[in-house]
Amino acid sequence: MSRLRNTARLAMVATVVALGGLVTTATPAAAATCDGYVGLTFDDGPTGSTSALLSVLTQHGVRATMFNTGQNAQNNRSAAQAQVAARMWVGNHSWNHAHMTSMSQAQMQSDLSQANSAIQSATGVRPQLFRPPYGETNGTLQSVASSLGLRQVIWDVDSQDWNGASVSAIVSAAGRLQNGQVILMHDGIANTRSAIPQIMANLTSRNLCPGMISPSTGRAVAPDGGSTPPPGGGTCSASTSTPNVWGDRYNTSVTVSGATNWTVVAAVTAPQRIVTTWNGTASLDSTGTVLTMRSNGSGGTFGFTTMFNGNSGGRAQIRSCTSG
Ligand SMILES: [Zn+2]
Repeated sequence: MSRLRNTARLAMVATVVALGGLVTTATPAAAATCDGYVGLTFDDGPTGSTSALLSVLTQHGVRATMFNTGQNAQNNRSAAQAQVAARMWVGNHSWNHAHMTSMSQAQMQSDLSQANSAIQSATGVRPQLFRPPYGETNGTLQSVASSLGLRQVIWDVDSQDWNGASVSAIVSAAGRLQNGQVILMHDGIANTRSAIPQIMANLTSRNLCPGMISPSTGRAVAPDGGSTPPPGGGTCSASTSTPNVWGDRYNTSVTVSGATNWTVVAAVTAPQRIVTTWNGTASLDSTGTVLTMRSNGSGGTFGFTTMFNGNSGGRAQIRSCTSG
């Protein structure tokens, strides 16, 4: 959350400048927020190495999309559950990784349905995304996927991790990702796990953040997706109050009930912009209007400061409260 702190620090510097007439030069690199999102995807799990992968991802605060085969989900149910518990998104990667374009329409239907059922049975989450094995697809497969509520997602960047790419080659591939794009990686490859810290350092340096893949567009978007709560969690409730209002900004205090570990998504209306938060682990979307706050052991109350920027009438709204 250094990004948010940096943003807040800069906002304070800007206030000092405005009030005191001081001349301060802000370093542009320190002004990092999420200027865009990329989709990190890991195919072919869950496997015996899924827990190692999830460990690296969660250590770096990364949420990613796991394209599971139905057969692996059925055979590794606890690993599939761990994916969702680690707040990953789970997609359908066929039943057992066959070359699907040589199948009949009925076979495609049966394969994807069976995979959906196995993944939903193991994780409690019905997939909304489908990645065809080998990226091989055709119009029939796309329409079958669509009829099952699955959005097809290929990739923009291939890490080549399946082809023996080195850690530096995988990091370099991720360095080509642009806002909205998706990279292909795999569960079960040691070089891929080793590359994640450097991948994150590279993305952070370019103000890109890991996001979810939108089931409507297939592009990477903010993790909250606008209104979709994280998968796998229960609900909780969050209420707001406005303890402080100044000429240029206001504070919102949020009290969460019904969960100890929670994620709350709150939003303000532009041109308002959230600039500072406290008592939680925060991530802000690129516009500064959508805050995703996670509990960090400080209890059930958190807060944030919002600049009016000309809209002094609006107040923050709670979009979702998710437990777990
Ligand atoms: Zn695959």
